Amino acid sequence: MKVCKTIDDMRAASREARREGKRLGFVPTMGALHQGHLSLVRAAKAKSDVVAASIFVNPLQFGPTEDLAKYPRTFDADRELLEREAADILFVPTAKEMYRPGAVTYVTVEGLSDKLCGRSRPGHFRGVATVVAKLFHIVEPDLAFFGQKDAAQCVIIQRMVRDLNLPVEIVVCPIVREPDGLAMSSRNAYLSPEERTSALVLYRALTATRTLFEQGERNTAALIAAGRRVMAKERGVRLDYFEIVDPDLLTPVPELTRPVLVAVAAVVGTTRLIDNILLSV
Ligand code: AMP
Repeated sequence: MKVCKTIDDMRAASREARREGKRLGFVPTMGALHQGHLSLVRAAKAKSDVVAASIFVNPLQFGPTEDLAKYPRTFDADRELLEREAADILFVPTAKEMYRPGAVTYVTVEGLSDKLCGRSRPGHFRGVATVVAKLFHIVEPDLAFFGQKDAAQCVIIQRMVRDLNLPVEIVVCPIVREPDGLAMSSRNAYLSPEERTSALVLYRALTATRTLFEQGERNTAALIAAGRRVMAKERGVRLDYFEIVDPDLLTPVPELTRPVLVAVAAVVGTTRLIDNILLSV
């Protein structure tokens, strides 16, 4: 696996692959890799000739009081995991390499960036869209792979690609869960054993909503109330949102007449976690 630390090296590696007529698949990450990330690499391997992954903890998407400094950084283990998955290129730029002093250009996906996590994390999706646009320009992939775990992120990236006519196909891959249902996340590493147990409430609340839906309930207020009731029972967990929204617009849906996204975010101890399911009518 070729490790590229500079934008020039990454561009050269990507252009070499493309010169050889190869399809380049790209998996952007913030590292601390787990099976969720690796599922994206495997999907990329299946659909592309050359796979590039990136590890970059993007300062621009963290708020001033968030966990940028303590975000888990496990580069050696990450590199080994990617080698084992036979990724071809790893791009690991520094923040200085990615953002020149005085950079003032951002990508804002209006009307979506302030939904779901965007409401409680102002500037987060602007940071995400900006870094992904930059990565797309540097890596120039034919395909890019994202996890449904970050549902709003997928919607925002897809809209950005459409609106800016970026020549990349976005592939969204399913959520990978622990055997007990907890969605895999790099932030799970922050959880104490007790918090790890409490964290299961997110999936339990989503499952309760799905069960009620399967019993015929179509009123979203009732479905949301059921999910929130489950969340409220878990001590030490502070709910940020439990919402049922249109999967493309991220706006609330009153009745379930078409597929919806059920999304939850909560702080377990001091760790903010998210999860979601799709319900299709
Ligand atoms: P992150 O390193 O958290 O920025 O995630 C990098 C990519 O991996 C994003 O596209 C995430 O949606 C995806 N991802 C993270 N966790 C999971 C998971 N449990 N299942 C599937 N994809 C995931």
